[in-house]
Amino acid sequence: MYRLTDQQKEVVRIASEVADGVIARYAAEVDLNARFPSEAVAALGETGLLGLTVPSEYGGMGQGMSAAAAVLDQVAQRDASTAMIYLMHLCGMACYTANPAVTEVHLRAAAAGKHLSTLAWSERGSRSHFWSPVSKAVQNGSGVLLSAEKSWVTSAGHADGYVVSTLAANAASPTETALYLVLKQDSGLTVDGPWESLGMRGNASAPMKLHEVSLADERAICVPGKGFDFMLGVVLHWFQTGNAAVSIGICEAAIQATTTHLTGQGFQHLGSRLSDLPNLRARLAKMRIETDKARAHLAKTVEAAEAGDASAMLMVLESKASAADTALEVTDLAMKACGGAAFSKHLSVERTFRDARALSVMAPTSDVLHEFIGRALCGMELF
Ligand SMILES: Cc1cc2nc3c(=O)[nH]c(=O)nc-3n(C[C@H](O)[C@H](O)[C@H](O)COP(=O)(O)OP(=O)(O)OC[C@H]3O[C@@H](n4cnc5c(N)ncnc54)[C@H](O)[C@@H]3O)c2cc1C
Repeated sequence: MYRLTDQQKEVVRIASEVADGVIARYAAEVDLNARFPSEAVAALGETGLLGLTVPSEYGGMGQGMSAAAAVLDQVAQRDASTAMIYLMHLCGMACYTANPAVTEVHLRAAAAGKHLSTLAWSERGSRSHFWSPVSKAVQNGSGVLLSAEKSWVTSAGHADGYVVSTLAANAASPTETALYLVLKQDSGLTVDGPWESLGMRGNASAPMKLHEVSLADERAICVPGKGFDFMLGVVLHWFQTGNAAVSIGICEAAIQATTTHLTGQGFQHLGSRLSDLPNLRARLAKMRIETDKARAHLAKTVEAAEAGDASAMLMVLESKASAADTALEVTDLAMKACGGAAFSKHLSVERTFRDARALSVMAPTSDVLHEFIGRALCGMELF
């Protein structure tokens, strides 16, 4: 559905091989032990996939949103935690690519599989309203001091680079934000608690604290004060479409697990399979229809966004909300179709059900997206 070129199909084939060969192998154990999937991230690095969207002049594959969506979809079919780590890395790459004067060395390292990135935007004080951080940079000679309480940072402590949001030192309004590149080794950056979650248990989305992290002005990813425009103009479409792709990959995993269960198990005393029950087949059909609808919408969205189509922004907003709703519905249907067996960990269905709960609460949350879309349709300002 993603309308890929032959070259992009080859990239997706490589991703699918990595996903089958490495990512799938560790997925259940990563979930059980809530541990970071280091093997999966290393495999993405070794195959060049951490450089999927890094421009070729910096050693990357130079791919856009369509290929990214197709690859994320593949990865999420095997392990949603790894897919989320990968998505946040790709969002980091979008930030780096917009300012290679600051980040070239890290873009090259990512392309070589040696740099993992993420976004540290959500704060305790403004919760899911990431566009309004409450922390504020303090000007310190030719640099800034950053102190902040970040509430959720995927790959916390594992990533090499963190794109951190904060109010600009001279901000006079809540959206005059700045984005800075903070590196793992910068003094004052610490993981501030464990990651103990219902789903996405492998992605280490723990809180982080910045205490007077001292950065040169050159670490600014965009013009201080213009972070809000940068978030919406440079990063939002990557996050939204990638998040939708992760939802769709989770749906696909639920369909595969349900199909295997329904066709492989049955009632011995009746000599029938579960798939002989029409209501279970109808649930599976509904799962397929909803997943195909969400994937078709996403494919159209990335095509429109890459073509710079005027309708793209609304579709970008829709894509995450729609796919996240679909993931909730499809994994719920999978639980119902597979009965008590789904409740147990011997099927992967319950993992897809738990993982799917994260997508709609990642910011912008589905509630907020519905509000944005409604406002846009009524000709109102979004903020
Ligand atoms: C698995 C996972 C990974 C994450 N990774 C990252 C990351 O890498 N970087 C990062 O910066 N953040 C990350 N986050 C944080 C995420 O983006 C959200 O900020 C976070 O989930 C919000 O949770 P909260 O409890 O603070 O929500 P709250 O803001 O307290 O929202 C509570 C409820 O209120 C609703 N709500 C809020 N505002 C409105 C409104 N204006 N209108 C209507 N309803 C509203 C919400 O939809 C939600 O249902 C991650 C979250 C998860 C779950």
